[in-house]
This record gives sequence, C-alpha cells and structure tokens, in this order.
Amino acid sequence: MGLLSRLKEIFTGNKPEEPEAAPGPTTVPEPAKAPEPVTVPDARPEAKPAVKPGDVKVEKKPEIEETEEKPVAEKITIGHVHMSGCTGCLVSLADNYEGLFTLLDNYADLNYCLTLADVRDIPKMDVALVEGSVCLNDHHSVEDIKKARENATVVVALGGCAAYGNITRFCRGGQWNQPQHESYVPIGDLINVDVYLPGCPPSKEAIRNVAVMAYLLLRGSDEQKELAAAYLKPLMDLAQRGVEACGCDLMVDVINQSLCMGCGTCVAACPVRAITMEYGKPNIERDMCIKCGVCYAQCPRSFFNFDVMNQFEAIGEAINAAMGKGDE
Ligand code: SF4
Ligand code: SF4
Repeated sequence: MGLLSRLKEIFTGNKPEEPEAAPGPTTVPEPAKAPEPVTVPDARPEAKPAVKPGDVKVEKKPEIEETEEKPVAEKITIGHVHMSGCTGCLVSLADNYEGLFTLLDNYADLNYCLTLADVRDIPKMDVALVEGSVCLNDHHSVEDIKKARENATVVVALGGCAAYGNITRFCRGGQWNQPQHESYVPIGDLINVDVYLPGCPPSKEAIRNVAVMAYLLLRGSDEQKELAAAYLKPLMDLAQRGVEACGCDLMVDVINQSLCMGCGTCVAACPVRAITMEYGKPNIERDMCIKCGVCYAQCPRSFFNFDVMNQFEAIGEAINAAMGKGDE
C-alpha cells in the first residue's frame, strides 16, 4: 500500500478496496469414481455329457447311380504280332497316348501283344498288326506268321519291314542282300496280306486311323462301312502291288509320268532323307534308299484316285468323331 492511500485511510477511516486477484486457470477436479463391482468369470467350462459310439448318428449319403458307358457296338479284337524288326512300329502305336486309351476303351481290345499283353499263343482276332519280316531260318517265326493268318480276319503289314523287308533285308540302295539277309522275307512272301501300312515307322495317326476304320468296317453302319472301305481300299491295293518297293517307284510311276505336283510330301516322309527337292521336283538318292516304300505310299499322285480323295473330308470327320475330337 502506498503512503497516500495510508493517509487517506487514517483521515477517512475507510479501508481501500483490495484489488481483485487475476483469474488463473481453473482446474475442475474430477469427481471420484465409485469402484465398479468386480465380476470373476467362472473359469471351468460347463461339463458336457460323454458321447458314446452308439449315440453317433451317421448321415446316409444319397447313392450315386453308376452308369457304365457302353461303346456304340461290340469292340473288335486287335493283336500285335512281332516278327523280326526293331519294335519302332509298336512304339509308334503306343505314341498315341490318350488316343490309345480312347481306342482301347471304346473300339478295340488288344488281345495279343508280346510287350503289352500276357498271352503266349496267337489267339483268334479280328485284326492282326504284323510288325517285322519273317526269318526263314527260324521255324517258330514261320509257324507264327501262318497261325496269325489263320486266326485273323484282317492281316495288316505294319511298317516297311513287314511289307517290303526294309532294313532287315539290308537293302540299302543298289547294294545286294548278303546271303544271311536273304533269309528275311516280307510277310507277303508267305501269306496273303490284306492291308499294307508302309512307313519306318508308320505314323501314329496312320495306325490309329487304320484301327478306327477296321472297327467301322466290321461293326459300323452301312454308311460307316462305306467310308471305311474308301479309306482302306488304297492300302488294300498297295498290298496287291507286291513285296518290292523303292524310291525308284516314285520316279517311274509319278515323276516320269509328269504327275508330280511338287508338293514335297515324299521328301517329308522319307526316314533317311534320301529325297531332296531340286527345281521344284523330288530327286532321289538311290544309294541312300532303304526301300521302306513310304514315299510312294504317301504321294497323293501315286495310287490314290479321286473317288477316294473326294471322301476324305467325311473320312476325317468320322475319325475325329470316333476319337472325340473337334478337328485335327
Ligand atoms: S526313297 Fe526314302 S521313303 Fe522312298 S523307299 Fe527309299 S527310303 Fe523309303
Ligand atoms: S509326294 Fe508325289 S507329288 Fe508330291 S513331290 Fe513327291 S512325287 Fe511329287
């Protein structure tokens, strides 16, 4: 308090007013919370009654009716008769993979095959696929090929060795067979053969097609039989041509007759690349030829005729339908 204010207080008797204190920040204390009641959970789970095996109820699943897929008609039986060869034709047959299962599921039972079926003696069969040539010095081979002819409705010479001797005759170009090789003969020298399927080896598609067509020929409708006959007829005609084949057949019957259209199919088909295209026409190196006959068999200008070729679309559709494919 100042001196002036003290004198004023003495003379007037009034107390000077106290200056108000500056308001400070106010803190409102929180009301004390009442303690919440503590609930202690029951630690023990509720005990369940024990389940006895007899109390367990098994729901019965609805039974699924199994329907067996039946082929269109009864399957045919096919046998693979192995004479003297390299087994390459059988490998080509097996190369069909899932197509082979379709064949075996729906169209054919393989009832004789030394590699794939455990059957010792050649049984009755619809189609015999004979691979390899026959060794005349082995009487078992001679008996086997005769038995195959007796027991099979259709005999197919599968591959170049069965049809023409091929490499088992050691027939390489102009080379003469050696005496020991003269004893290997094409099966057509000993039995009648119905169908030739040349190739070293024949393609897997060709083998599959012959199997499907044999099925249609033996079990199909009249229309299917007609198609199958159209497909197989050129191969039957080939069987009637004889047991000799050479790249020179192409030269004599196609190229020299001005029938060659330069498509190159023979070049692609030759397994030893004995044929090359020169100036748009095939040139055959005869010293390299192993006489498998496939160039002549696959040339579209050799022994096919247009009546047959005109049906190829329907034939292709029949094969694709049989194999369950849209197109191939
Ligand atoms: S030329 Fe080739 S495809 Fe023709 S017969 Fe000789 S090896 Fe076979
Ligand atoms: S397959 Fe026949 S038409 Fe084609 S190039 Fe060979 S010989 Fe000529």
